[in-house]
Amino acid sequence: MVFEYTLRTERTNFYNITSKVREAIAKSGIVNGICVVYCPHTTAGITINENADPDVIHDLLSGLDKAFPDRREFLHVEGNSTAHLKASCVGASQTIIINEGRPLLGTWQGIYFCEFDGPRNRKFFVKIISS
Ligand code: ZN
Repeated sequence: MVFEYTLRTERTNFYNITSKVREAIAKSGIVNGICVVYCPHTTAGITINENADPDVIHDLLSGLDKAFPDRREFLHVEGNSTAHLKASCVGASQTIIINEGRPLLGTWQGIYFCEFDGPRNRKFFVKIISS
């Protein structure tokens, strides 16, 4: 089964969507399996990273800005190639093990929707497969 969620984003930011993924798993009733969190956009993505210190998200965004600055030689007419690069870097999905009805995450791990070209109305999907 697939669950769809929407969110309204700022220009760039990471949004902790772990509670939505937990909610989808609970609604599915599946106790053991696999969960795929998928972003159907080309300038946003999904990642797993630290959920405790918000400075980590700040530093990830800062590091991605440094790694993928806007460049004069980019050709894409929309002018947001740096957002496309960041989206490909983090990837469009994450796969998470479901164990005893819960996502098998480390204590300090959260699941994040990564916005690189907002503000926009975005969506993501949570696909749950029993095993
Ligand atoms: Zn574009």
